[in-house]
Amino acid sequence: MTLKIAIVTGGASGIGLACAERLAADGMRVVIADMNENAGAAHAKRLAGDFVLADLTQRKGCRHLVDETLRKHGTVHVLVNNAGYQHVAPIEEFPEDQWERMIALMLTAPFLLTRYCWPAMQKQKWGRVVNIASIHALVASPFKVAYIAAKHGLVGLTRTAALEGGESGITANAICPAYVRTPLVDNQIADQAKANRMSPEEVIGKIMLAPAAVKRLIEPAEVAGFVSYLCSDAAGTITGSALTMDLGWTAR
Ligand code: NAD
Repeated sequence: MTLKIAIVTGGASGIGLACAERLAADGMRVVIADMNENAGAAHAKRLAGDFVLADLTQRKGCRHLVDETLRKHGTVHVLVNNAGYQHVAPIEEFPEDQWERMIALMLTAPFLLTRYCWPAMQKQKWGRVVNIASIHALVASPFKVAYIAAKHGLVGLTRTAALEGGESGITANAICPAYVRTPLVDNQIADQAKANRMSPEEVIGKIMLAPAAVKRLIEPAEVAGFVSYLCSDAAGTITGSALTMDLGWTAR
């Protein structure tokens, strides 16, 4: 069986790290790309994978990641576009440079990386693009304008890639999770607890899980399990989908 090469962006922490661990356990060679050199390199080493230091808000960072992967392995089979972060502010105060940075990281980088990986995937007639979107790719909440705009756009990118990739054995899907227990969410809990004078448990129960049917946070490994399935041969007919993993949030 061919050794599969999987790029995971933002693989030094949270969901990306769980994906890197899971895909490595599935037998793939994982290339972790991140700005966090210490954690990224340490995890890559532990997983017998590679680490590429890259700021993915920059076009040259995206190019470098794919060039390095192709130089070392000759091809790429799986692309998990995961790197992202959150900035919370009302529209009238939303920093314009944050808008640009968030769109660059969470929408433009997934496009560039898909574009750069595409010829190799087409050539081998097999590819899997998994975009870690968010439930905020499907619904909005106040004060998260750039995040929500980027994630909605990511679903459009996913659908287009699916249509173009179908005949070449390339699938593209977006996973749309609600709150996942990661450092990104821990920071949000701490901020909300301060702003609302609540305990962290109250923030989780009364704010974050208010629209949810299943009253618990999602674990990173649960998202990684879904990514693993979408990267399998068995998932070859699932493409162009924005797949919710949202605790029932959008069921109402
Ligand atoms: P995290 O903060 O734990 O990890 C994000 C990683 O991305 C970090 O390692 C960070 O260094 C890296 N990163 C940030 N900016 C980068 C850049 N410019 N270049 C390269 N790497 C960069 O966050 P997480 O919660 O694991 O989130 C991962 C993805 O999942 C994000 O796209 C996020 O929007 C999405 N998501 C998260 C949740 C959640 O509740 N945690 C829910 C839905 C979607």
